[in-house]
Order: sequence, then C-alpha cells, then structure tokens
Amino acid sequence: TKLRVGLLFGGRSGEHEVSISSARAIAKALSAEQNASKYEILPFYIQKDGHWLAGEAPQKVLGTGMPLLESQESISEGHLIAQSPWQSPSQVSEVDVWFPILHGPNGEDGTIQGLLTLMQVPFVGSGVLGSAMGMDKIAMKMAFEQAGLPQVKYKALTRAQVWSNPCVFPKLCDEIEAALGYPCFVKPANLGSSVGIAKVRSRQELEAALDQAAGYDRRLIVEAGVVAREVECAVLGNDQPKASIIGEITYDSDFYDYETKYTEGRADLLIPAPLPDAIVRQMQDMALQAFAAVDAAGLARIDFFYVEATGEVLINEINTLPGFTATSMYPQLWAHSGISFPELVDQLIQLALERHSIG
Ligand code: ATP
Ligand code: MG
Ligand code: MG
Ligand code: MG
Repeated sequence: TKLRVGLLFGGRSGEHEVSISSARAIAKALSAEQNASKYEILPFYIQKDGHWLAGEAPQKVLGTGMPLLESQESISEGHLIAQSPWQSPSQVSEVDVWFPILHGPNGEDGTIQGLLTLMQVPFVGSGVLGSAMGMDKIAMKMAFEQAGLPQVKYKALTRAQVWSNPCVFPKLCDEIEAALGYPCFVKPANLGSSVGIAKVRSRQELEAALDQAAGYDRRLIVEAGVVAREVECAVLGNDQPKASIIGEITYDSDFYDYETKYTEGRADLLIPAPLPDAIVRQMQDMALQAFAAVDAAGLARIDFFYVEATGEVLINEINTLPGFTATSMYPQLWAHSGISFPELVDQLIQLALERHSIG
C-alpha cells in the first residue's frame, strides 16, 4: 500500500505564494514515475487567515497556483475544514507522513513542527528546536558564535527598546552607529524572503528602518554591512548529513531584496559557483557545523558571504525550509550534485521516517 503524504502548504506568512510554488513542484515530484507507486498525496492548504482546507480546495490551489481567499465561493461548503487540524480528525488522521512546505513565521519557526510532534506522525525537516533556532536570527547567531563560526558584527534589539521614550532612542542609535557604522542592515529577527529588511546609510534611514522592522517583529537585529559575493550550500540528512556543491547568486540591485528574489530574470543562480576548492571545502564544513549548531534535520540551506578581497567566509544564515520550487537553489544544488528533484523528495520523506523511528 502507498504511503500517504500530507503536503502542507500556504500558511499565514508573507511567503504564502512561494509556499504554493514549492508545493506544486513537490506534488509533481511525488507523482513522477519513480515515486507514484510509493506515495499518495493528501494536500492540505492553510489560507492566509489560518484556516486549514482539505479535499478539493487544495487540489485546486495546486492546479492553478493561485491562493484561495476565504470569501471565495468555491470553498464555502464542505471544503473549509477547520480553524486548526485537530477539529478535523477524519482527514488529518489519514496522513502517514507530513511534508510541511511552509516558509517563514508559523511554518518554518517550530510552531507547525510542535503540532506535528504532538500528533506523533513523522514529518519532513527540522523539529521544534532546529526550526525555532533557524528562524530567529538572534538565537541563530548566538548558536553560530558558540560554534565558532565567523559572522558579521551585529546588535540585537527589542521592539520595546525601539519604541521606548524619545530620550532613550537616540542613545540606542548612537550605540548602533558606533558599533556597526554604515551601511548596516536592519532586520526583523523572525522573517524570510528579505521582508522588512532595510539597508541603511544614515541616521535618518536607521531610525526609519528600526521603526519599520519593529512593526514586523518583537525582536530585531542590526548587522554591519559587508561587500561580498553571496553563496549558498544545501545540506541533506539527519545525524550524518551531506553538504552539496556551492551555488552563487548574482543580481544588479542594491541587495538581494524581495523584489529581486521573486521577479523573474532579476537574479541569476550560478551552479557551481566559481570558487577555489579550498574555499568550497571550508563552506561545506561550515554548513555542516551550522546545521548541527541549531539542531537542524532533514534539510537546510546555508547562506554565506564570501569576501573575495580577503578570502574571508562569513556565515549569513540558515534556512530550515528553503524555497523548493523547480528553479530554487536548494533542489538545483542537489540536481547538480547528482540527486534529481523526485529522488530528493523521496529521500526527504525517508529521512523523516528514519528520524521518527529513532525518536
Ligand atoms: P531568505 O529569503 O534567504 O530567508 P532573509 O529574509 O532571511 O532571506 P537575509 O538572508 O538575512 O534575509 O538577508 C537578505 C539579503 O540582504 C542578503 O541575501 C543580502 O543580499 C543582504 N544582506 C543581509 N545582511 C547583510 C549584511 N550584513 N551585509 C551585506 N548584505 C546583507
Ligand atoms: Mg532567511
Ligand atoms: Mg527563509
Ligand atoms: Mg537569506
């Protein structure tokens, strides 16, 4: 009998559309000849307002690639299953293994992973700790620091500090300027796809960016800006993970912002990245250390800055549920390392089962 794969996508985050694209690619891979006899897809779509849909509605989203809004008639009856999965045991209980392909908050941050852990069903990817550590840029940087991984200088802040009384705020900005200089990057701690990130070059821009980032998250981070090439490494596995070859991203914009990431033709992936062998090995080694430092499992994409002038490699971040569309860096890196997209999806499910059985 076939293993029923609960493909969980959409979600309450700014990366909802990316999740739909990733889910379409994974659904296609599960239906590919080599997987079709092994797996059956049970799609679950989480709408932007948090409702879970099963049955025909998620099939429709997978077919069209378009989000379904709550008001749409097509889901008014029968398909709207629940505010949360435990209100619908009939559909949810049929799942043998979950494949959550949700990006950003409420998907990549341990919340869904906690729910699936409670349900005692295997799932693809990192558990609660790895997901939460990988999502929160402050916790992540502390773990990397502890592991001895080189990274940019940074300062962690809270919304309360940023929105504090007007006498305290200028001192905070003075400290940031003195410690990090310009340009620096202001980021909400728990987001992705560059949402809420600003590159700032002056006091005025710094103040505005802090205010904006505080609107996205309680926790914020400011990083010293580096001039560097941007390269990424894919990791696959549980306790003996493997690192892929390295890929590079090139673009013309000021930095790799949301628009550059998701507008066709704005960025190019270069696989493999033209790098000296020793640098490649160093990055692969650092990627595996980063994977272990946050307790990731299954898959992760590790992003680096390569300062060519000095030969320095800095770790930027880990993404525990990286973009997974047919053209995304993560599956492309494996394709170039000899693992096809359908094979990759198969391996990830097998890793989920393995991790669950070991406990
Ligand atoms: P992802 O979509 O990969 O999850 P993210 O939202 O977590 O992205 P980051 O990777 O932290 O965001 O930053 C987004 C981009 O901003 C980087 O790819 C890079 O172009 C630029 N950037 C971020 N931090 C720095 C820095 N300290 N110095 C130079 N550029 C930076
Ligand atoms: Mg990220
Ligand atoms: Mg991300
Ligand atoms: Mg990134």
